[in-house]
Order: sequence, then structure tokens, then C-alpha cells
Amino acid sequence: MSISVQNISKFYGDQKALNNISFTIKKGEIVGFLGPNGAGKSTMMKILTTYINSSEGTAMVNEFDVTTQQKNVQQSVGYLPEHNPLYLEMYVKEFLAFNADIYKVKKERIEEVISLTGLTTESHKKINQLSKGYRQRVGLANALLHNPDVLILDEPTTGLDPNQLVEIRELIKSFGKDKTVFLSTHIMQEVEAICDRVIIINKGELVIDTPLSELKSNQEQLIEVEFDFRIEDQLLKRLPNVTDAKNTFGMTWEITFDTKEDMRALIFDFAKENELRILKLDTKNTTLETLFRELTT
Ligand code: ADP
Ligand code: MG
Repeated sequence: MSISVQNISKFYGDQKALNNISFTIKKGEIVGFLGPNGAGKSTMMKILTTYINSSEGTAMVNEFDVTTQQKNVQQSVGYLPEHNPLYLEMYVKEFLAFNADIYKVKKERIEEVISLTGLTTESHKKINQLSKGYRQRVGLANALLHNPDVLILDEPTTGLDPNQLVEIRELIKSFGKDKTVFLSTHIMQEVEAICDRVIIINKGELVIDTPLSELKSNQEQLIEVEFDFRIEDQLLKRLPNVTDAKNTFGMTWEITFDTKEDMRALIFDFAKENELRILKLDTKNTTLETLFRELTT
């Protein structure tokens, strides 16, 4: 197991931030840690990276105990903390060299992580001259310096604009090819975009721990489509596997299918046959969306 958490609780004074949480993460998995603000995500990540101690329970990273083998845990983990604290007055290379010294990492590795995180063109700049997206890359480069097996990323995309968000997600996904990744987020779509499994917590309690494939397999499929022309719902309801077709706005429709087969191609064919053009097309994971909405409202 890359990460093993057993009956972890954490009190801040008399406030219980984590209540008897257990889960395991296998080597190579990308796991999303999903929960609203205040759920306890950062607290769990700080315990796993040895920044704070738990009040009860045990946790292991790379088979090392987070309380009794902290050095080994730190060598196994690359951590991107929430709000990514950087020395803004430092140059990118200077900052990475500074941390490479602390980790006793060879100088060559600095160029490697710069290239891995797509920082090459910005690497001569001061950190305060970088956009938020590039600052996140510096944080990721820093987390990768000692080539850890496990990456723990606390809300790595929060505060990024839509383009930066997509780029950082792609980077994280690429790291996931040979590392275990545990990332927190309060954005449900992020989990769908990059994760193999999802662990949801709310108010310090574990709510669900499941592979995304399982959520998708027993679900209805919801497709949102916008055409360039008004149509009758009867036309859509004649499509195979359709259980419902709702006109939600203007020429936008929400169509529900009772199959896990991707029905987007069918909608393209439908549009062509009816001489319609598609202005927007989206699939939605109804199960995860419903779950998360129930939990956060
Ligand atoms: P999340 O990362 O999911 O937003 P946190 O782990 O930061 O949640 O916080 C969980 C709960 O613990 C919140 O109610 C928060 O206010 C509280 N908390 C976090 N850190 C501290 C601290 N150092 N002292 C007291 N309470 C804290
Ligand atoms: Mg947090």
C-alpha cells in the first residue's frame, strides 16, 4: 500500500476535525479527496506528510509510520501544501536549488523537474513575476525534486483560471503514470477529470470511498446538448435508451439514457439527420454530482 490510514482522529482543542477515518491507497492510483471547505482534507494531508500529529489512529506512507518514521515518510512524499507557500523574491531556479540543498538532491535534478513541469521558458524569472498557474508549477517542481513515490497535493488547482486549470490537471495526470497521487479538491468535476477513485469526507467523517468506474457503471447517463434550432421533445425521446429529455434553457436539452455506453456519437448522428448543429455537448456523472450536492447542501 502507498498510503494506509487506520482509525485516524484529530482534535483541535475540543473540536473534532477528523473522526475515525480509515482508507488505503494502492501504488499508482490517482485518488481524489473530495469535500467542502472545513471537511478536514488539509488536516488529513498534514498528518500524512508529518506536519502535524493525529490524536488517535495510525497512518503509513510507503509502509513507513508517520509518527515513528517521519524522515522515511518525508523522503517518500512530495507535498504541495494548500496556498503553495513560495519565496516570491527568489528566482525560480534559485528557489529550487535552495530546496534541492535541503533535500540533498543532485543539481541535475533541478533541470529535470523544470522540464517535467513545463517551466523551461519561465525558469529565469522571479517567482513574483509568474502567473498563478506557473507558481503552481514551481510548487509541483519543488514537490518532485527528490523524486518521491507519493505525491500529496492540497487543492492544486484552486484559484486558477480555466486554461491554467486544464494544464495543471494534465500535468498531475502525467505524474500519475508512475507515482501514487492523493489530491484534495472541493470540485467534483476535477475528480472526474483526473482520478481513478474518490474518497469523500464531510465534517471529518468519511462518506464514500469508491472507484470512479463503479460510480459510472451503475449510473444513468446524462448528456447536456445545445442545438442551433428549436425541436420537439418527442424527436429526442425516440432515440434508443432515452428515459427522459428536458428542455432546460433556450435550445439546451438534458437527455437521460439508461446505458453506460457513451451516447454522444448518437447525438451527433441525430443532429446530422435532423439538419441541426450542435453548439455544446457535455456528459455528466449524475451519481457523483447528486452525491456531492446532497452532502454539501
Ligand atoms: P479542509 O481542508 O477540508 O477545508 P481543514 O482540515 O483545513 O479542512 O479544517 C477542518 C476543520 O478543522 C475546520 O473546522 C477548521 O476550522 C479546523 N482547523 C483546521 N486547522 C486548525 C487549527 N490549526 N486550529 C484549530 N482548528 C483548525
Ligand atoms: Mg484545506
